[in-house]
Amino acid sequence: TQRFIWPMAQFGSIINMYQRAYASSSRIFGLMDEPSRIREDPDAEDLVVEDGDVVYDDVTFGYDEDETIVNDISFEVEGGDTLALVGPTGAGKSTVLKLLLRMYDVNEGAIRIDDTDLRDVSLPSLRQNIGYVSQDTFMFYGTVEENIAYGTFDVDHEDIVEAAKAAEAHEFIENLPDGYETEVGERGVKLSGGQRQRISIARAVLKDPEILVLDEATSDVDTETEMLIQRSLDDLTEDRTTFAIAHRLSTIKDADKIVVLEGGEIAERGTHDELLDEDGLYAHLWGVQAGEIDELPEEFIERATR
Ligand code: ADP
Repeated sequence: TQRFIWPMAQFGSIINMYQRAYASSSRIFGLMDEPSRIREDPDAEDLVVEDGDVVYDDVTFGYDEDETIVNDISFEVEGGDTLALVGPTGAGKSTVLKLLLRMYDVNEGAIRIDDTDLRDVSLPSLRQNIGYVSQDTFMFYGTVEENIAYGTFDVDHEDIVEAAKAAEAHEFIENLPDGYETEVGERGVKLSGGQRQRISIARAVLKDPEILVLDEATSDVDTETEMLIQRSLDDLTEDRTTFAIAHRLSTIKDADKIVVLEGGEIAERGTHDELLDEDGLYAHLWGVQAGEIDELPEEFIERATR
């Protein structure tokens, strides 16, 4: 059965669809109400991602002029690799990723995808190339099916079911009162954090972006569900440039690169093994999470809560 996910789309122009894609990513990032300071270059061209290499080159940023939140950060992620951002709350992890979506412009330095400065590409094309997975993902009032298709065009019911299966969401959706037709969002059935996360994975599967941003789940799901989610994420991140914000270090220990942020600066970087050898903040956070040490030594508690 074929359904019109976007009944309006057939009347809309390409511009319209772009506006919708733009609005959806803003909403997904919860930035709808923030005044946009971004100005698109009139000569901006659409981003076409080839390799998916991402470079942060001496990036400095603050929400207000007088407060620097991200200070002189540089790193590179090769196309298809996974970079994990680790660090205490408030360290600037989400801010670093908002800059990738160009929710804000850097104050100094540059971010480049395949050698193209983000400021030289059209915003909708940038955001069409980036998928976002989180428990806080935006659900509008509509059916589960419409929510999965959000931001994607020309998909039919079979595509959506495929995506839901890949996201380990099919089973719980089938168990909802009206299956894929169940109304969710504010006035509909309330989904749990783990369920919303799986909807956002299904969305990303459908969107099939070159670059993926994963904001790791903070609320608990049972161990079996967690294993299923992890498996679908492993499939999704394979061969895509992936940025992961991790709270539980066990989920990112295989990342190609781990960047430890502290107070908006890079405190440590390396692979899991390299960071353990360094015996710094990461190694101690790992020690606590792995149950190898009882608590963080004083100096690290101070650093982690600064
Ligand atoms: P993390 O993701 O590591 O917890 P964030 O990037 O969310 O850190 O936050 C870094 C700092 O930026 C915090 O001090 C936070 O209060 C501040 N911040 C985050 N978002 C905004 C915003 N929209 N306006 C002003 N300050 C913000």
